[in-house]
Amino acid sequence: MKRFARILLLVLLVGGLWLALKPTLGKHRFTFLPFRWSEYIDLMDFWLNFGAFGILGATAWLAFGSFAKAFRLILLMTGFITLLNVILELAQSSIPGRAVDIADVWAGLLGCVLGIFSSMALQLWSIRKKADVTAPQVLFLDQTGRLGGAELMLLDIAAARAADSEVLLFQDGEFRTALENVGVKTRVCTLGEEASVVDKQAGLKRILRSIPSILELMLQIVQAARSFDLVYANTAKSLVIGGPAARLAGRPLVFHLHDIIADGHFSTLNQQALVLCANFCASSVIANSEATKEAFIACGGRAELCTVVPNGFHIPAQRTSAETMKSLRASLGIPSAAWTVLMAGRLAHWKGQHVLLEALKSVPAAHAVLLGDALFTDEDRQYARQLHAQAEELGGRVHFAGFQKETMPYFDMADAVVHASVYPEPFGRVIVEGMLAGKPVIASRAGGAAEIIQHEHTGLLVSPGNATELADALLRLQNNSAFASSIAHQAQQTAQDVYAISAVQEKIESVIRQVSGRHQPESTSSIIPSPCAA
Ligand code: UDP
Repeated sequence: MKRFARILLLVLLVGGLWLALKPTLGKHRFTFLPFRWSEYIDLMDFWLNFGAFGILGATAWLAFGSFAKAFRLILLMTGFITLLNVILELAQSSIPGRAVDIADVWAGLLGCVLGIFSSMALQLWSIRKKADVTAPQVLFLDQTGRLGGAELMLLDIAAARAADSEVLLFQDGEFRTALENVGVKTRVCTLGEEASVVDKQAGLKRILRSIPSILELMLQIVQAARSFDLVYANTAKSLVIGGPAARLAGRPLVFHLHDIIADGHFSTLNQQALVLCANFCASSVIANSEATKEAFIACGGRAELCTVVPNGFHIPAQRTSAETMKSLRASLGIPSAAWTVLMAGRLAHWKGQHVLLEALKSVPAAHAVLLGDALFTDEDRQYARQLHAQAEELGGRVHFAGFQKETMPYFDMADAVVHASVYPEPFGRVIVEGMLAGKPVIASRAGGAAEIIQHEHTGLLVSPGNATELADALLRLQNNSAFASSIAHQAQQTAQDVYAISAVQEKIESVIRQVSGRHQPESTSSIIPSPCAA
């Protein structure tokens, strides 16, 4: 289509020029223009119009990359140019010896009205056409092929709109397989070696070395984005690379912020780069908790961009059978009657698995299952080795389950769930998963975790990094089963009411439609209250 428009424009320009310069061919006259050269000079306004018209039309087309937009602009310009002609015609009448040519004035006014009105009519038509109920085509971006919390959330969002979405990953892996299993189209544009080692803590030197491969990926995203209505960056790195790319492609961008932009999570340089990109490239920022939103604003992020949408979860109709739980315990080496606490999530220092192991020293009868693996960095892998060493001191009471795709049986077979992040958790999916499983949850009093749990009602909150408080909370649950089941029951009800995936997907879709300028179909336009405000 674009190529056709370009060829057409070229033909029109060449044809127009030919008609202007060579008005006759043999005996046939091809133009309304005068014959003599001197008469052309007299028609300066024609030449000016012709040149301006051609240059502006071509520039508009190049700038907007769309024939329809350029055509609309050309019509508008014709309107204004003819209006200018009328004014000039009237002004020339004040020159002695020149009179107003009424026919010219009327023709000019007609051209002006037709040009301006038809351009406005086209504009209205294209807005109405865009605003129909067809779903916007979205290109999702994510930097990793691994399955972290942000990726599990994207899996659900993209699956719900699989026919109108594609996910572009910077790395291949099990995330791509999971997306394809639910019918989502994917493509992998790998980031070069230098850039893939740039993490949230990277300094200037590492970032500079990665620039060539970042630019290459950026160009690939620009190309891909042109076939979509909107670009949706799901991670920090995908925003920094995809944000400018979306701008270059002329597509609006939604940034899903899953991280707390603060020390401990990002280096100062990365914090600044992230906020700068979000402020300049994003039309909307979806924060997964109030804590995430506040940290973004505290770093200089534009508050008016933010909408808080928590993670959503499928509520399974059936939980794990007693038999499966029994054999799972046996396979992990947990005595069948042992009081067991589950900690799920990737092994990383800030997730605080070491705090739980420290607390276990004061809860002698308890066993712990660590579900998850070191997913992203060398520091995480080193931390995992330290945890294994720390676990040895606990005499076989710590069970490493590794990363599992199917997590529900682990939540179901546990007596309590612990979340022990030492820095504020942006959201904390595992907390909601524990609540949905009907288990009492203990979490760190910070970030998104403190928004999900109401202390003493839907769980227990303890100070981040405080093993003594955690041990006390564990003992309380272990020794008071009535209290444990009461908070677990209330938590399950709250989680089912607030974090159902369908409501969350609707909120995300509403942001997508708003940013892409499409109306929400009536059946899905209801406003859902923010769970974080609940
Ligand atoms: N998870 C998983 N398999 C595992 C361990 C964890 O699928 O072996 C899931 C867990 O159930 C949760 C997600 O990984 O849904 C972790 O999300 P969270 O928000 O707790 O942490 P994040 O990884 O986003 O920092």
